[in-house]
Amino acid sequence: MEILFWPRSTSPMNFPLSPESSPSLSCVSPRSLRSARKRWPMNFRMCRSARFRIGIEDSRGALRRKNDATGIPNPPERGLRSHVTMRHMQLTALALTGIVKARALELGFDRVAVGHVGALQHAAEFQRWLDAGYGEGMDWIEETRAERLEPARLLPGVRSAVVVALHYGPRADDPSWEAVSRYARGADYHEVMRPRLHVLRDFLSETAGAGCRASLDTSAVLERDLAASAGLGWIGKNTNLIAPRAGSYFFIGTVLTTAELVPDGPVADHCGTCTACLEACPTDAFVAPWVLDARRCLAYLTIEHRGDVPDAWKPHMRDWLFGCDVCQDVCPWNRKVPLAREPALAPHGPLESLEVLLAMDDATFRARFRGTAIFRAKRAGLARNAALVLGNRGDGAAEPALRRALDDPDPGVRAAAAWALARLEATHGAVSGDPGAGASG
Ligand code: SF4
Ligand code: SF4
Repeated sequence: MEILFWPRSTSPMNFPLSPESSPSLSCVSPRSLRSARKRWPMNFRMCRSARFRIGIEDSRGALRRKNDATGIPNPPERGLRSHVTMRHMQLTALALTGIVKARALELGFDRVAVGHVGALQHAAEFQRWLDAGYGEGMDWIEETRAERLEPARLLPGVRSAVVVALHYGPRADDPSWEAVSRYARGADYHEVMRPRLHVLRDFLSETAGAGCRASLDTSAVLERDLAASAGLGWIGKNTNLIAPRAGSYFFIGTVLTTAELVPDGPVADHCGTCTACLEACPTDAFVAPWVLDARRCLAYLTIEHRGDVPDAWKPHMRDWLFGCDVCQDVCPWNRKVPLAREPALAPHGPLESLEVLLAMDDATFRARFRGTAIFRAKRAGLARNAALVLGNRGDGAAEPALRRALDDPDPGVRAAAAWALARLEATHGAVSGDPGAGASG
């Protein structure tokens, strides 16, 4: 007698086993079975004919059948016993993979894929990118180069990666948020995804009795590379992960595991001859297709960069207050994408005006933006960006707010306000006073 079980919330796409082809999990530990039984009590059943149906370890007649519902080829006559063992292991991995995928979807992730962790597909490109200095200013990437190239340094014995996606766009947000990248308008996605990812990690660890490690943009893991080899999408020329029916507006999280899971396999690159993203970038940040000079990218300049923004890039910021979506917005694969389902990612009310953001003090900034992605730019970064956007908009009505910002305690904000006032002067003629006053550190 065998115990068969399968999770309730499974779809054919994410859980390739139908109840009729569910394999035996007799080599999973009794503790794991008890845990699974508690979670899906309705899906357990006792089945006398299981061994015959899936033909894994007894009847030679059953083993000789051509590919059964699992799709795993039957073994040849010779070396039957070792093939039987291997087949049993494959079936266990298949069942475990299905269960973990189902759990990921149950936790609210929109998609999930599994990849084998071996030599990273784009390791050489990553090394060249770092060596060229395109990631300058993001020291944490260089400091963790070795770990990123070799996931086994983070989790010895790692075999597989479970990669999940959470969609964040598009939504009909209040127009006041247009200058903020879509991903950053609501709660910080780390806060939204981390607890669920940890539940998934613990579930896999407990069910498989395997070592697991969760990563969400904060560990030294080349997540996009792992996600691409798992088949969650392909890496587009704009360096984003793109999926055929989901576009690129999604976050990814990863659980590395020592468990052997059945990989999904990569999807084909569908960029073709398109170059829309490369041509639309406001700062010409793409050195070549798939090669981004992050130092020129507005996502870096408006969020990670501290202090004054180099003059050459200030006009190119145009209207972008936090991040930039241009190379995603022009991508044809983002024309028809699923709406974000996660309510926490929606913004809380309209965004304050640029003048209010420019004048915001630390306490108000913390109260308003703690727990959101915008918090990462800090009060000074957001005020600096607000001043630069006011300068780019060229609205003379912003002059008083910019003039007050010349007394801001942060030198980067003062420099941005001075630049914006000079730009207003160039647009509207003389402005009162000296825009350069107070701009120096
Ligand atoms: S995010 Fe904006 S600035 Fe950065 S590469 Fe894309 S289009 Fe260019
Ligand atoms: S805009 Fe075109 S080239 Fe760029 S990522 Fe999308 S499909 Fe690929």
